[in-house]
Amino acid sequence: RYTSYKMESFLCNQAFINGKFQSVSETFPVLNPFTDKKLGDVANCTASDAVQAIEVAAEAFKTWKKTTPKERATVLRKWSELMIKNKQALAELITAENGKPVAESIGEINYAAYFFEWCAEEAKRTYGKTIPTPFPNKRLMSIKQPIGVTGMITPWNFPSAMITRKAGAAIAAGCTVVLKPSEDTPYSALALAKLSLEAGLPPGVLNILPCSRENTPAVGQVICESPKVAAISFTGSTATGKILLKQSANTVKKVLLELGGLAPFIVFESADVENAVKHAMACKFRYMGQTCVCANRIFVQESVHDEFVSKFVAAMKKELKMGDPMVNGNTFGPLINEKAVLKVEDQLADAVKLGAKIEVGGKRGQAGKSSFEPTLLTNVTSEMKCFNFETFGPIASIRKFKTEEEVLALANDTRSGLAGYFFSNDVSQCFRVAEEIEVGMIGINEGIFSTAEAPFGGVKESGLGREGSSDGLDEFMEIKYMCWAV
Ligand code: ADP
Repeated sequence: RYTSYKMESFLCNQAFINGKFQSVSETFPVLNPFTDKKLGDVANCTASDAVQAIEVAAEAFKTWKKTTPKERATVLRKWSELMIKNKQALAELITAENGKPVAESIGEINYAAYFFEWCAEEAKRTYGKTIPTPFPNKRLMSIKQPIGVTGMITPWNFPSAMITRKAGAAIAAGCTVVLKPSEDTPYSALALAKLSLEAGLPPGVLNILPCSRENTPAVGQVICESPKVAAISFTGSTATGKILLKQSANTVKKVLLELGGLAPFIVFESADVENAVKHAMACKFRYMGQTCVCANRIFVQESVHDEFVSKFVAAMKKELKMGDPMVNGNTFGPLINEKAVLKVEDQLADAVKLGAKIEVGGKRGQAGKSSFEPTLLTNVTSEMKCFNFETFGPIASIRKFKTEEEVLALANDTRSGLAGYFFSNDVSQCFRVAEEIEVGMIGINEGIFSTAEAPFGGVKESGLGREGSSDGLDEFMEIKYMCWAV
């Protein structure tokens, strides 16, 4: 029923504005981090392209907001099915752009397509309220309406899913979108644009502006400062998020931010240690540690510390296979770029200098120029950079603790609060700790929790607002209160 493409036919290299692929005057190169070869040259949009795209999105909003949820759902469902039909090619595209092991890229496409499917269903359930009235002669109700044109800026680590999670919700709510993908992964964004045409998304509802790192601040500024843009949704570093929040102040935009984390991963002595190791492996080392919910600070209670460390080392040696991420069976590819490796090396050198012990790994690897071995550090302390700054790479840092009280104080002693995890078989401890940890999402005896049904987001400096779930749709809607005299 749907067209099936090869990876190469997804290498669209123009901007996508008003339902058309368009050239702009300059291009910028996109590299494959494993081969270090150029995948292609992509349109390098500027601030004036952003102005044009916002105009187009504002025009499209006039009609898109009047479509019924069922009409929007039909498009989103087709779009989701098209992604599944083209799963292999879209996954290879992710791997080519960001070095994600291809099995994980397939997982990302399934996850990404599911946001469209779920938002298609949820679009129909954006209920308002009838409100019991305190006045005999007045009737009160509220409705939800799409917020307007939405600006989106997305990262390279989930180049497909971060787009569907944001744009799926906004489009389902009746909004239109101007999106700037990461300069490292524009092809995955443009591939979704290509499929949107076949899904029947009307022109102007989704506009994509790829641009280089150099052009990014100017494009971002236009999106944040435009009075025609009602909301901005961003996933990326905390530093960039703060810039966008400031830039959005003048137009009092709704700002949705998914920023960095410093996830605590706590193993209490009642835990099933083998199970904790299994989840720590998945949570720490998927995509080489380059997700914002990866375990960043692993705390293990004294009595099970040595057992946990030896089982973790054994699992790392057995399960992590470094090599070309496009080859099935390789679970460990390159990091996104050389800068990421330098950051990992800096954290490692700092930790070792301050007394940490390298149990395994510790040097550059064999999966391309920007590859680093999976590494396990013990004797980590609070002074070390790896416990204070997001690693976003393949170092697992372990610290021993004595009591629940001590570990909770340590876990919460940060301005980050995205994800957290703990392992315990003591039921009352599970309730206490789940309630006390200052994060937006918590895995209890579980290391992987993301799904379209559940609210994703952080507290403190890890973000504002939620994505996924009906809460994620609500973020793109305004509540209008109506008071009727009778
Ligand atoms: P990372 O260092 O992991 O790339 P960033 O926060 O820099 O994290 O990048 C996330 C996204 O934010 C990317 O799309 C990037 O281009 C964009 N970005 C970076 N700096 C700015 C900026 N000043 N204004 C708008 N977007 C930005």
